[in-house]
Amino acid sequence: MSGILVLAEHEGGKFRKGAYELLGKAKELAATLGTSVSAVVLGDAPCTELGAFGAAKVYQVEADFSQYNTLQIVRALHAAVQAADPDVLLISGNYIGKDAAPRLVARLGTGQGSDCTELRVEGGAVVGRRPMYAGKLLADVKISKRPAVFTLRPNSFPQPTPAAGGAEVVKIALAADASDGRVTLVERITSQVKTANLTEAERIVAGGRALKSLEGFDTVIRPLAASIGAAAGATRAASDAGYTSHDEQIGQTGKIVNPQLYIAAGISGAIQHLAGMRTSKVIVAINKDPDAPIFEFATYGIVGDLFEVCPLLQKEFEALAKAG
Ligand SMILES: Cc1cc2nc3c(=O)[nH]c(=O)nc-3n(C[C@H](O)[C@H](O)[C@H](O)COP(=O)(O)OP(=O)(O)OC[C@H]3O[C@@H](n4cnc5c(N)ncnc54)[C@H](O)[C@@H]3O)c2cc1C
Repeated sequence: MSGILVLAEHEGGKFRKGAYELLGKAKELAATLGTSVSAVVLGDAPCTELGAFGAAKVYQVEADFSQYNTLQIVRALHAAVQAADPDVLLISGNYIGKDAAPRLVARLGTGQGSDCTELRVEGGAVVGRRPMYAGKLLADVKISKRPAVFTLRPNSFPQPTPAAGGAEVVKIALAADASDGRVTLVERITSQVKTANLTEAERIVAGGRALKSLEGFDTVIRPLAASIGAAAGATRAASDAGYTSHDEQIGQTGKIVNPQLYIAAGISGAIQHLAGMRTSKVIVAINKDPDAPIFEFATYGIVGDLFEVCPLLQKEFEALAKAG
């Protein structure tokens, strides 16, 4: 093995939660395989500090990444892979994992395990496990070519505790390339949603069609979410009806989330919604219909009217928070 390379993403120099999560998992796998961990960082960020999370070396690609350009990201990752020559490459399954990773994989002539929620070592190789068909089956994916590329569903692994130590930083200068111009950033639309990043959120309170209006969503779901520091999410029925923005839609055609706690209020549990949240660690369903399909997947079920149950829960959560 010549090691595991992790894309450590950052926003304006601050590493994202997913970067630490992947490094923690890579460190664990590398210990089993008897190999090392390195990271690739695109642009300016405090690379040496990744040593505390297990990266012996950090490949810092120097270029202006301020305008999102998937072709430039692919070139940067390709340059890092050439420098590091890893056996395994881990990328968070967010928009970069969905947009850039498959292009990189095609360029490298290798294979990809997408949207994995587990990684393990088997027979000296890394094997990924991924939910398929809205979580109805779990597939084990082993890539026979190298580097084996895996994109990981955010929140699949715990945040590691930092240890002492810094990383060696290897700089890679990425020259401008006219071919990047095949993709042009036409417009950047900033989300109006002020809550936490949904895909990385530890807790989510989601509402469905039963909220009946934007006002219903804003006065029931958002305050309940705020009471436990959760992000708000919605079904497609709720976002199509305008109760929330589409940024908050969870499911097959929305975001895929994987929080520790998912509270589903007034959500029936359609397969397309389950596709986006079924791997949540604890699911609490609130529905007035005891036969609602969501209850088959819920860890805890509350049969009741959400307009009564949610404010009661909120009150309890606020009291608990006050009590410390
Ligand atoms: C191609 C395709 C892609 C799709 N992608 C997505 C997707 O990404 N995400 C998604 O969510 N959906 C998606 N859908 C839509 C999906 O099939 C469902 O229609 C949708 O998830 C239903 O949303 P809902 O649970 O809010 O509404 P409903 O199915 O109408 O359920 C409302 C629930 O609220 C309960 N309820 C009503 N009043 C109350 C109350 N006062 N208190 C408590 N409970 C109450 C009802 O008993 C019911 O169970 C997709 C559909 C298709 C065809």
